[in-house]
Amino acid sequence: MKIDLIAGARPNFMKIAPLIKAIRQRQSENKAISFRLIHTGQHYDVNMSGNFFEQLGIPAPDVNLSAGGGSQAEQTAKIMTGYERLLKESTADLCLVVGDVTSSMACSIVAKKEKVKVAHVEAGIRSGDMTMPEEINRIVTDSITDYFFTTTVQAGENLKKNGVAEKNIFFVGNTMIDTLLQQRPFFKQPSFWSTLALNPSEYFVLTLHRPSNVDHPEQLTRLLTAILEHTHGLPVIFPVHPRTAKMLEALKPGSGNLHLTEPMGYLEFNYLVEKSKAVITDSGGVTEECTVMGVPCMTLRNSTERPETVTEGTNELLGTDPSAIQPALQKLFSGQWKRGTIPEKWDGKTSSRIVDILISTVL
Ligand code: UDP
Repeated sequence: MKIDLIAGARPNFMKIAPLIKAIRQRQSENKAISFRLIHTGQHYDVNMSGNFFEQLGIPAPDVNLSAGGGSQAEQTAKIMTGYERLLKESTADLCLVVGDVTSSMACSIVAKKEKVKVAHVEAGIRSGDMTMPEEINRIVTDSITDYFFTTTVQAGENLKKNGVAEKNIFFVGNTMIDTLLQQRPFFKQPSFWSTLALNPSEYFVLTLHRPSNVDHPEQLTRLLTAILEHTHGLPVIFPVHPRTAKMLEALKPGSGNLHLTEPMGYLEFNYLVEKSKAVITDSGGVTEECTVMGVPCMTLRNSTERPETVTEGTNELLGTDPSAIQPALQKLFSGQWKRGTIPEKWDGKTSSRIVDILISTVL
């Protein structure tokens, strides 16, 4: 029983790593399950890919489709032709995709057309914002998925509204949190901690990479200005996503409190998040990690596909208008930020649940 595990971009690696561990555990118990790890090459440099393999103990990919670079359509086409060639040479019983990146969508389409069943981990989440490429990827992937593994009850409800049969929806929890809980004892102080003389709860972490925030120089400048004006002079550490880096080069923001870094390793980044005063972000995964670690989180987006991080967790949606930043930071500094709880089944055991379902129901 051969499963193709698809990974292509940064937020995939932390979702795939615990699945591989869980499969290996079942293999050691003589269960007939095997996998082929396929890296599409969507993210390919050390900071966005290689480091995660090393830190999270992911084995070297069995196949690399080397489909990095180019526009969304060019990337989709390269991934699809590469994966189709592979399946024609050597097919699989199941194609398992995680999350909402181009690779997830592209490989699920190819698999379905090659009569290979598709499993989607993190199925059913919806922001309702069709300007996000990820939302399109989610909808297309779920429209051809056979087995839906969900992080929340709400995600399952979204799928049912779209006509998905209940028997194909499995509420299992969050594989990203499996990784977080497995790796938490090994978080690593980043090398700049002492150079910048950082102290716990006396700095902010900032990440921005959504087109709505970073593709227009005026918007990015207004956001950065508002953040720096209202963070009381505390250091703001900003690991810069490659998409954002291009824009920042042109802007050259200068402030003693703003510290730009390369995209960080997982262990260093989450060390920083865990000890921060708060995180300001437009990432999806980071809001989940903040929720589990109880770190105040402000999301610079108008919608979220992860509403549980707001209704249950520590996250608040501020929108993309910089005027929302000041009142939110005031609330934080006055000690009024909510504490939050951890969503159901975000307990570190999600990957084992998925693999057990694959063995008993799917394969
Ligand atoms: N992350 C990281 N280093 C960084 C920034 C983020 O390891 O410099 C991790 C973060 O802990 C989370 C994941 O990357 O696990 C989130 O990825 P990203 O924000 O790119 O994607 P999204 O979740 O928005 O799809």
